[in-house]
Amino acid sequence: MARFIFITGGVVSSLGKGLMAASLAALLQARGYTVRLRKLDPYLNVDPGTMSPYQHGEVYVTDDGAETDLDLGHYERFSGVAARQSDNITTGRIYRDIIAKERRGDYLGATVQVVPHVTNAIKEFIGGDVDPGLDFMICEVGGTVGDIESLPFIEAIRQFRNEAGRGQTLSIHTTLVPFIAAAGELKTKPTQHSVRELTSLGIQPEVIVCRCEHPLPESDRAKIALFCNVRKEAVIPALDAKSIYAVPAQYHEAGLDAEVLDAFGIDDAPPPNLVRWDDVMDRLLHPEGEVTIGVVGKYVGLADAYKSLTEALVHGGIANRVKVNIKWLDAEMFEHPETDIAGRLEPMHAILVPGGFGERGSEGKIASVAFARERKVPFFGICLGMQMACIDAARAEGFAEASSTEFGETSDPVVGLITEWMTEDGLQQRAAGGDLGGTMRLGAYPAKLGGNSRVASIYGATEISERHRHRYEVNTHYRDALEQGGLVFSGTSPDGALPEIVERPDHPWFIGVQFHPELKSKPFDPHPLFASFIEAAVKQSRLV
Ligand code: GLN
Repeated sequence: MARFIFITGGVVSSLGKGLMAASLAALLQARGYTVRLRKLDPYLNVDPGTMSPYQHGEVYVTDDGAETDLDLGHYERFSGVAARQSDNITTGRIYRDIIAKERRGDYLGATVQVVPHVTNAIKEFIGGDVDPGLDFMICEVGGTVGDIESLPFIEAIRQFRNEAGRGQTLSIHTTLVPFIAAAGELKTKPTQHSVRELTSLGIQPEVIVCRCEHPLPESDRAKIALFCNVRKEAVIPALDAKSIYAVPAQYHEAGLDAEVLDAFGIDDAPPPNLVRWDDVMDRLLHPEGEVTIGVVGKYVGLADAYKSLTEALVHGGIANRVKVNIKWLDAEMFEHPETDIAGRLEPMHAILVPGGFGERGSEGKIASVAFARERKVPFFGICLGMQMACIDAARAEGFAEASSTEFGETSDPVVGLITEWMTEDGLQQRAAGGDLGGTMRLGAYPAKLGGNSRVASIYGATEISERHRHRYEVNTHYRDALEQGGLVFSGTSPDGALPEIVERPDHPWFIGVQFHPELKSKPFDPHPLFASFIEAAVKQSRLV
């Protein structure tokens, strides 16, 4: 039976619990175990799909089409295990399901309550959809212990631990040990209080991870151990790391994986093989050059809004052993007549227009595509970025009004809902296949690539599968005109009905994709499109 590891946080939020969970998974894998990761989110949204990236960072999409918390992106990047719908639950989803059951009369007249109905639903989520033979399931609880909304989750974990039996579960509590400059000291009291709060809810953590900006003196470790009822070795200091990819090795040095295995009574685990992490860090710490990528987007004020994209660019740098500097450029700024767009973009070795929603900044994005096309600067358009590349191409071909119906009515809807542009026949075929359009296309879809295309040589394949999250599609009525102008539709859905990739063969590197390749990139397995894009940027950097 799988062993369950529960990770909670205390004192403050943003302690890097997600990274800790992901790093622990990487360490257990490096010792030969199989691992999955799950996130329990106490907020009332059914999923993060409707939350602003400004509030909650990016929405991470799984192969099976779930819109999930961005921590699942960390999990997948560190473990290489593809996340699933069943790996993320929110209070909103639990209540939605319970209320639907209640309305159907499934509770046979019983009073529906937080305990046991909500806690049972949480326990079912924790223990559900576990692959046979799985060694460890790591469950991270969002929020901070003591929050009103996380109480049912903590209670469910208490019950789960009790029912699973001795040696089957483990609680890791992550806290902050702040440094008080005036006293010149680290303070353990917040940790003591937070652990007391957790124990008062019936959970005695076996391991305490202490985030701190300064090395934790042995005396403080001993103090935390004494007051929090754990052994000193189980108090794991966690200092800030040079790179998130240095975190697994750092936790290993601090003894985290050893303590976890010890707590489960496992004494025959092989030492971890960290070669792939050492190689990643070697490439990050000893680059042989650097490139600057201009990302022209909307949510440039918050790094987490483009988390997977940022990481995928870093992975492209790892593949080419170069440092990648990202210059975030506000697309809206490019719409002001006084902005010197060329002046801003000239220092860039490559330009990327990422995914996004809504009209704001779209003209600025289209202007950036035009710059990259005309100046032959490497260009990568992702989702909305590909749509903008098609609109730019159409305008260059004389369709002056070309636009997306997402932005309002237009006489040349180069991008639109399929219900707006597809033939009756085409729509009927899609309806028969259960894909009606008009709703979000979410999750993994296959695509076929043109045999002689640049993307086929980059992927080394003509059949691929990538993850989507969009409503609008490039309208194939414009395909011939755009191809005549040099923008080739080099990837489509297997039935040929939906454009998935466009590229310009007469350009050093110009590719637009309707999907989100950044979601599948890993530090130890950089996505081929990002590796190739950064390679093109390196070539460009030698020209300028
Ligand atoms: N807004 C566009 C659409 O819905 C693009 C979405 C995206 O970039 N993820 O089609």
